[in-house]
Parts: sequence; structure tokens; C-alpha cells
Amino acid sequence: MTQSEQLFQQARQVIPGGVNSPVRAFRAVGGNPVFIKSAKGAYLHDEDGNRYIELINSWGPMILGHAHELVEKAVSDAIQHSFSFGAPTRREVEMAELIVSMVPSIEKVRMVNSGTEATMSAIRVARGFTGRDKIIKFEGCYHGHGDSFLIAAGSGAVTMGVPDSPGVTKGVAQDTLTAPYNDLEAVRRLAEANKGQIAAIILEAVAGNMGLVLPAEGFIEGLRALCDAEGIVLIFDEVMTGFRLSASGFQGITNVKPDLTTLGKIIGGGMPVGAYGGRDDIMNCVSPAGPVYQAGTLSGNPIAMAAGYAMLSHLKDHPEVYTTLEATGTRLEAGLRAANAKAGKHYTINRIGSMYTLFFNEGPVTDFETAKASDLKLFGAYFQAMLKRGIYLAPSQFESLFLSTALTPEHVDAILAAHEQSLAEILA
Ligand SMILES: *Cc1c(COP(=O)(O)O)cnc(C)c1O
Repeated sequence: MTQSEQLFQQARQVIPGGVNSPVRAFRAVGGNPVFIKSAKGAYLHDEDGNRYIELINSWGPMILGHAHELVEKAVSDAIQHSFSFGAPTRREVEMAELIVSMVPSIEKVRMVNSGTEATMSAIRVARGFTGRDKIIKFEGCYHGHGDSFLIAAGSGAVTMGVPDSPGVTKGVAQDTLTAPYNDLEAVRRLAEANKGQIAAIILEAVAGNMGLVLPAEGFIEGLRALCDAEGIVLIFDEVMTGFRLSASGFQGITNVKPDLTTLGKIIGGGMPVGAYGGRDDIMNCVSPAGPVYQAGTLSGNPIAMAAGYAMLSHLKDHPEVYTTLEATGTRLEAGLRAANAKAGKHYTINRIGSMYTLFFNEGPVTDFETAKASDLKLFGAYFQAMLKRGIYLAPSQFESLFLSTALTPEHVDAILAAHEQSLAEILA
């Protein structure tokens, strides 16, 4: 028995399903999850001494690769001064100023401890601000595990077979309306049928949690116009795309500005951090400036702020990070397409910058329905074939992969070689 097998057996005795977040259990791809011992740069090392080239990067945060010296140093400096105070600190002010300077639509920001907290809080504020109850979300978009969002949710919720989780009350579910991603007409119909009742439209402006799906031309613009006309708060959930697609997130590469933005993942540099922010008048509803309550014992934690600040200030000062990531993404995508074509397959690859998904489906993949048309059995076999060859992919078809600046052209070529062999193996 391997160390990973042994640990998983132990874990299942004391942790539900053996993991602290469902996707980690490998249920969608079969086999035993790999237990990670350490990571540096582009590599993960498991408990059995295997090394993997890494394409998850902690689901996004490790955009500079693992254990980057800058973040390590910031954290080790910060821990000299105690781990938490529960009182305001200089670091929080500097962090807020940095975020406001990087994301133009954010005028005020509140730090929390996860993406889930950020999205839960953002819709509460939108409801408080508008005095309305309902929200619109999109099928296959994932906004963390808050009750309001576990309706047609993406990510782990897809492969668990319980997209609508037990424990979410009918009352809560009734206030969440859903539309297919990229279907502006469906959203217009919902808004018309629920006139004056919709507090917010929340979306992953680039969807990463049903696999990567890009917004169709005019989709985001149409939502903006609808929200303006109907007094609806437009929320971009940029927990995944924030600081990844540009130093100001997806909104840095489109003309559309949301009213509120939720952030997570990269913002903590690997520490548990989230944030929500946006228009001054909306954010002034948040307690103690306003009546909408939201709090956190460890929010703005000094160690987490140190890690996040080091990460974000580096990204702000080094625009070449995004050029490098684009070059890596281009090389990888071209190689994958060439290998697929050689195998006579024209699988869909959706990519933007350093995020991509290879769908086992000839596509196009433009929403949750078309994403689900993928051959999941083949994906599972592919995942295992790649893992065996030392490439660590997300253990589900319905996830995006994330590149880091630690990936060199040589790493990309190694990934491509493994891809070609894996395809040959699974299609044989
Ligand atoms: C990861 C993610 C979340 C949830 O963040 P957690 O930190 O896991 O709670 C919310 N929204 C999106 C778009 C995400 O990718």
C-alpha cells in the first residue's frame, strides 16, 4: 500500500469522505487521491516521493509557482509580530489601498477569509442596498457553498450528483433564479417576470467552474445594460479570474464595470483570504458604516494580509507576468491542438490567458449543457494516464486548469509529450 493509500484510509475514518473539500477525493476520476507533502515552483511532491508538474496551483492562487520567495519572506517577517490581534492594523489599510488602486470598479473593499464568504456577503449587501430578495445566477457557475448559490452550481457540486444540496431550504432556493450561461434572452425574461424583485445578477464573467467557458460577444454588455435599466446590482465573481487574467482581473480586459466584485484565491497568495468591494454607495451599506451586518474574527489577518500584499504588489509592478503566462498558454494550446489533430480528434479547448480546459467533446462548449456533453469516462482515463506520467491535472472535467510563471517551455513540452502518450493510451 502506498503512503497516499494508507493516509486516505485513515482520513476516511475521521474526515467526511477523507477530504476537506469534495473534489480532492478524486470521485470524478476514480482511484486514490494523491497526498501532497510539499511543493516548489512548478512541482508538487507527494507522500510517496513522486514528483508532478502542476496545473492546478491550489486552484489558482499560486500564479507565481509554489513557495515563491517574495511571499515566503513577507510571511516570515509578519509572524514575528504575532498571528492575529482582532484589532485594526496598518497592513489592512495598505492592502485595501492596493486593491482599490488595481481594480478600477472597487472604491471600497472589505476583507474576508474565503471566496464563499465574499460572495455570500456581496449578495447580502446587494439585497440590503436594493431592498429586494431575489438573485439571478447562471447554470454551472460556482460561487462557493453559500446556500443561495447551491442551485445549479458548478465545480465539485457537479460531480457529486447533488447539484441542489440537501440542507438548502426551499425558501432560500426560491430566491435564486437561474439562467443558462451566455443566454441573455433568458435573463431578460427572468427580469421581466420578476420586475422590481431582483437584487443582483452574479456571474463568473469568465466561467471556470464548469470547465472554462468564455462569455459570448455582447453577453456581459447586455447584462450591464439590463442591470442599469432595472436597478439591479451586477456582481462579477472574480474569485478565480481576479489578478489572474490581468492585474485588475477580467474587468481589466473588458469595458464593462460591475457594481460589486468578489475576490479570493490569488488575493491571499495561498493564505485563506477573500474580499468583496465596489461602488462607494453600495459598500457604505456594510456595517458599521451602514446596517448590513458582516464580520469576521480573523478577517484582515496580518499574516494573510502580508502574503496577499506581497503577491498583489508584485503582480501590479510586473505586467510581464501576464505576457509570460499568455506565451505559456499559447504554446500549450497549440501543442495540445496539434496532438489532438494527429490523433484524429478535435476536442474543444477553451482558453483565456493562463486558464484553460480541454473538453472531451468536439464542442463548441458555450454553457453548462454543452460542457456536460463531454465524455467523462474518457476524461477519467486521461486524468489517470497523465497522473501516471507525472502531470497533475484537476481531477474533474468541470474545472479550469491554471498556469503559473514557474512553468518553462521545457515543462510545457513535457506536458505535451505526456499528453500525446496519454491520448494514444486511452484511445487505443
Ligand atoms: C473558488 C471559487 C469560489 C469559492 O471560494 P472559496 O475560497 O473556495 O470559498 C467562489 N467563486 C468562484 C468563481 C470560485 O472559483
